[in-house]
Formats: sequence, structure tokens, C-alpha cells
Amino acid sequence: MDYVTGLRCRECARAYPAEALHVCDFCFGPLEVVYDYERLRAELSREQIAAGPHTIWRYAPLLPVADPVPIDLGAGFTPLVRADRLAAELGLGELWIKNDTVNPSGSFKDRVVSVALTKARQLGFKVAACASTGNLANSVAAHAARAGMVSVVFIPHDLETAKVVTTAVYGGHVVAVEGTYDDVNRLCAELASDRPDWAFVNVNVRTYYAEGSKTLAFEVAEQLGWQAPDHVVVPVASGSQLTKVAKGFAELHQVGLLDEEPHVRVSGAQAEGCAPVARAFLDGADAIRPVRPATIAKSLAIGNPADGWYALQAVRRSGGALAAVSDDEIVEGIKLLARTEGIFAETAGGVTIATLARLAAQGVVRADERVVAYVTGHGLKTVEALAGTVGPSATIAPTLEAFASAVELESGLGHRS
Ligand SMILES: *Cc1c(COP(=O)(O)O)cnc(C)c1O
Ligand SMILES: [Zn+2]
Repeated sequence: MDYVTGLRCRECARAYPAEALHVCDFCFGPLEVVYDYERLRAELSREQIAAGPHTIWRYAPLLPVADPVPIDLGAGFTPLVRADRLAAELGLGELWIKNDTVNPSGSFKDRVVSVALTKARQLGFKVAACASTGNLANSVAAHAARAGMVSVVFIPHDLETAKVVTTAVYGGHVVAVEGTYDDVNRLCAELASDRPDWAFVNVNVRTYYAEGSKTLAFEVAEQLGWQAPDHVVVPVASGSQLTKVAKGFAELHQVGLLDEEPHVRVSGAQAEGCAPVARAFLDGADAIRPVRPATIAKSLAIGNPADGWYALQAVRRSGGALAAVSDDEIVEGIKLLARTEGIFAETAGGVTIATLARLAAQGVVRADERVVAYVTGHGLKTVEALAGTVGPSATIAPTLEAFASAVELESGLGHRS
């Protein structure tokens, strides 16, 4: 059963039908899905959700498409891990990691793609397309394969090898574009009007795609026993995920699933080499100034973020902050999370952890807060980032003597007692 009543312009509030529309004809504002919150409040219960599948689809009534058999590889329902060892290193109290590295294609993008393609199929599309910084391409190719749809994904030509291989393996079309993500995105915007029969998940069906990110908030609240955290740290590329995480917590209260009105401080994480939203925050500016990306955090390398302004507003409204961290801090962040919690994240996860560390040191994220950090992609996607910084402790001949002479090992190993 579908609770969607239509679409609405985020700027001028003009109403539209729930079709493949994404911008307002009158003011060019982005469109947003509207739900019947009254009916949801009356009909949706925690018990009903608890009885649902162990995927994002347990929240189907709060998603923009109803389908008894969604296009589903099992996205979502990822672990929320208490991170005491990391918290101790950062001087924090109650810290949790939302481990979205374990999604089917290794990133949070499976949440948004599962929703977008299910809606696209319902609207009659047969071709799935996207402009991607890498992870979106992985996920679209995988979900399209699952659904028997044709996929055509567009990526910048200089992506990490793993991201290209793990996209191409699904047998769709991978088009490497000589340019940055922003060039890829502009091309796809032109293509989308040229080929209205293709579903570009983050262009003409973006309105639906974006809603998938709300499940990052829904799951955290449910995993905390239907409570909201005090502070979340979210990576920012286009700004869609951050905006929708903020919306997700508010929506749960709106439909009566959270008793108390949540006051979640939302902080955003960007890489110094591509930090248009963090820059605007730190400069106290209103407009987002586009940048040309130069960072190892390629999955976040969007120089002209579509939802940047909305993300900035969401951060300011919530009393959160944004930070921009260096490539060295990103690598340190990846290693710190791996060393303390046994979770291997890609560069975007390094950005989140480095930002968490920075904001904790500044006293913005506080020890008296219940904090959740969103770690959104798997480390095997970006092993290049660690080249030369981790490796064997020693390389030895296969003899006891050789091992014994690698004595510096001994001190760190400890002994059974
Ligand atoms: C795409 C992506 C993000 C951010 O997504 P936006 O919604 O565009 O801000 C975060 N982490 C990873 C790993 C991603 O691939
Ligand atoms: Zn409008």
C-alpha cells in the first residue's frame, strides 16, 4: 500500500503527480515526495516494522514506492556498532558506528538505488542509468542485473580500479568520461532530456532516489530502541544523504514512531580537496561556491553539489557543524577505525572519522552526547589510498631463527598468561 500523495516543489510548494519529474516547471526548484502523514500515523506501528524484512523495505510505507517484490539485493539493516575503543581515543562517551560498508555492493548507495529502480520499473523504464563518482555506478549495475534491466552508467575516467571492475562485472555498459564528476553529471543532465526513456537514478528519478537515504535514520532510531541520537556525523557529496538523514528522524516523530520530538545535531564531513559545503559553513556564507575536486575521497568528489544548499541549512538549523579534512587525515581516519573497531572503510569513511575526530577535539561533538557516525563504503573499494602506509610487519625466511631475529616484533605481541 502506497502512502504517497504526490510531489511538491521544495521552493514554491507547487504540486505535481508522482511521475518521473524532478524539477519544478515554474521555479526550477527540486521536487520532493509528499506522504499522507495522517494515515501513516494511524496505520503504521513499530510492531509492523519489526515484523518486516531485514532490509530497507521494512520501512516500505515511508518509501515512495509500494511493490510486493522490490528490486532488492538486501540493502540496509546494517549493524549499528557500539564503538567504545574509538570513543576512548577521541575522548567521547557513547559513540556508535553505522556500518554501511556491508551493503550488497559495498556502499550505502544500495539503499537509494533499490528505491529508485523499483520506482523506475513501476513507471515503465527499461534502462537504468546514472552519473556516478563510483559507488552509485556499482550499485546501479548490480541492481539492474538483478532486475533484468539494461544499465548505462557514466563515471569519471580516473576512478579507482576496484570501482570500475566491480561495476563492469555485472555486464552493463560503463562509460568512462574524460572529465570530473561535474562534467559527467552535466552530460547526464543533457542526456536525460535527450533520452526520456532512460531512468537516470540521480537525475530524472532523483526525487525517489533521495528518499532511500531516510532509511539511514530509520534504522538507527529503531536500533537504539526507537530513540534518536543527539548528534550524527554524515559524509557529504551531493548533500542528499545528509539532508535525508535529518528528514528521516523528523519524519519518524511526525508519524508517531518516536515519542519525543528529536533534536538531532547533524554535522557534515567533507575532504579539504572538495569542500564546497564545509567552506560555506566555515565562511558563514549563504551561497555554495563550486570547486574543482582534488582529493583521494573520490566518492565524495562533487564540486557543485545539487543539494549542497539544503545540506548547509540542515546543519545550521540543527546546531551541527561541517569540517574539511586533509587527505592525510582521511588515511589516518581509515586506519584509526580499522585499528580500534575492526571496520575497514573506504576514503569516504575516512572523511567521516577524521571529521568526527576534528569536531571532538574542537568540543563540537561532546562526550555527553549519544553520537552516531555514518561509515558508508567498504575499504576494499579504495585500497590505493593506503598504498605505502600499511603492509607486513616483517618479511622473513621460513625458519625459527629468522623469526627470532625479527625481534622488534616480540615487544608488541604479548604472551599468553
Ligand atoms: C555517494 C556517497 C556519499 C554521499 O552521498 P550524497 O548523498 O551525494 O551526499 C557518502 N558516502 C559514500 C561512500 C558515497 O558513495
Ligand atoms: Zn517551484
